[in-house]
Amino acid sequence: MVKEAELIFVPVPSTGHLLVAIEFAKRLIDLDRRINTITALLWKTPSSPHADVFAHSLVASEPRIRLYALPDVPDPPPLELYARAPGAFNVQFVKKISPLVRDAVSSIVESRRGSDSVWVAGLVLDFFCNPLIDVGNELNLPSYIFMTCNARYLGMMKYLTERHRNIPSALDRSSGEEELPVPGFLKPVPTKVMPSGLFDRDAYEVYIELAERLANSRGILVNSFSELEPEAFDYFGRLESYPPVYPVGPILSLKDRPSPNLDPAERDRIMRWLDEQPDSSVVFFCFGSVGILGAPQLKEIAQALEFVGCRFVWSIRTKTSEKTNPYDLLPDGFDDRVKGQGVVCGWAPQVEVLAHKAIGGFVSHCGWNSTLESLWYGVPTATGPMYAEQQLNAFAMAKEVGLAVELRVDYVSAHGEIVTADEIARAVRSLMDGGEGRRERVKEMKEAARKAVMEGGSSFSSVTAFIEQVFVS
Ligand code: UDP
Repeated sequence: MVKEAELIFVPVPSTGHLLVAIEFAKRLIDLDRRINTITALLWKTPSSPHADVFAHSLVASEPRIRLYALPDVPDPPPLELYARAPGAFNVQFVKKISPLVRDAVSSIVESRRGSDSVWVAGLVLDFFCNPLIDVGNELNLPSYIFMTCNARYLGMMKYLTERHRNIPSALDRSSGEEELPVPGFLKPVPTKVMPSGLFDRDAYEVYIELAERLANSRGILVNSFSELEPEAFDYFGRLESYPPVYPVGPILSLKDRPSPNLDPAERDRIMRWLDEQPDSSVVFFCFGSVGILGAPQLKEIAQALEFVGCRFVWSIRTKTSEKTNPYDLLPDGFDDRVKGQGVVCGWAPQVEVLAHKAIGGFVSHCGWNSTLESLWYGVPTATGPMYAEQQLNAFAMAKEVGLAVELRVDYVSAHGEIVTADEIARAVRSLMDGGEGRRERVKEMKEAARKAVMEGGSSFSSVTAFIEQVFVS
C-alpha cells in the first residue's frame, strides 16, 4: 500500500500570508488524495492578534487541514521593530519560536510513527520562516519554501546574494538612479525601486540571511504563473545548483473568504451602488491592508477625483485603533460636491469590487495579492506603491510588461512625499481611457491566469510536479 502524506505548513500569521497559504493547502488536498492531512502551525504575534480566529474560519470547510497552536513566546521582539522593519521583526520572531516548532513537529512525526498509512513528508515554510529549515534538517524532513510574492522578487533575492559577495553592505539611496542587473527582469532595475528594507542596515542583514538560506531548501513554490513572468521562471529553470522553482499561482482566496474588517452593511452599500453604475465606468482606489495615507495626500486624491469627474469607489485605511469615519479625513464639502459620483469607505470587499462589471480601473499600491486579483478579473491598474516590495512590482507591471499605467513606481510612503492631484488625475484619465492598449493586454493575461490553474495548465502541471517531488523525497 502506498503511504499517504502529511505536510506541515508554517505560515506567517498575517492576513495576506495566511489566506494564500491555506488556499494553497486546500488546492493540494483537492488535487491529490495522497495528501492526507495538512497541519498548519500557528503562533500569536502582537502584530496579528486575531490570526487564530481568522485561521479557524479559513479552514472550517476543510477537515483535512488541521491547526496546531504553538505556545506563546515569553519575550517577543519589540513592536517598534515591526513598525520600522516588519520583515526583520518576523524573522526575529521565527527564531524565537524555533524550539517550539521543533517540539511540535517532532510530536507530530512521533504520532505518525508506526502508522502504515501516513507519514510526515516535509515542511512548507513561508519565505520569512526559512530559518526553520534547520528544524527540518535536524528532524530529517525536507523543507519547501512558499513565496507569497513573485518570481522577479526571487530573482532580486538571488541578485542580493551575489552583490553581497562584492559589496557586503545595504543599498544606498543616493545611488537611486543606478541600474542593477537583477535576473528575471527584462530591463535593468533602478536602485530606487528596490524594497525599502534593503536601505536599512538591520533589515538588509535579515534579507541577506533569508536569501542565502533559500538555496538550502528542497524546492521553492511561487504564487505566480509562468505566462506572467516567463523570463524569471526561465532563469531559475536554467540554474543548476539551485532548488527547483515551481510557479503555482495565481492562488487567490475568492470564495467563502472571511473578512473580519468588513461591516456587512458597508459591503451592501458599496455593492448596491456599483450595481447602478454603467459597465467599466468606476475607478477603484485601494492601497492594501495597511496603506494609511496622511491628510495632505488624501486631499490630493480628493481633488483629482473632482477634476476628473469620474465615478469612484475609494477605500481609505485608517489606524485600526482609531474608529475614524473616512469621510472625516477629507476636505470640507467634498462629500457634497461628489454626491452620486462615488463611494468612500473603510475596508472594502476588494475581491467582489474587482469582480464587478462596473469597475474599469484600479489605482493600487501593487501588493502582490492585489495585483493578482486585478489580473484575475481583467482590471487594469495604475501604480501607487507605498512600502515593502511594491515599488518593484509597480516597476515590473508598468515598465516591463505594460499591464499597468504608471502613476509612480518609486514612491515610498515613509518619506512623506506627496503625489499631486494633477499626476493622479492624469493617470486616472489614462487608465479609464484604456491605458494605451493596457486594457486589452490585461484581458489576455486574465485568460492566461485562468488557463494556468486549469487541468493541463502551466501552474497546474507545476503543482503536480511538486507533489511528485514530495512523494519521491
Ligand atoms: N483587501 C481587502 N479590502 C481592503 C484592502 C485590502 O479585501 O480594503 C485585501 C485584498 O483583496 C488583498 C489583501 O487584502 O487580498 C491585500 O494584500 P496585498 O498583498 O495586495 O497587500 P498588503 O495588504 O499585504 O500590503
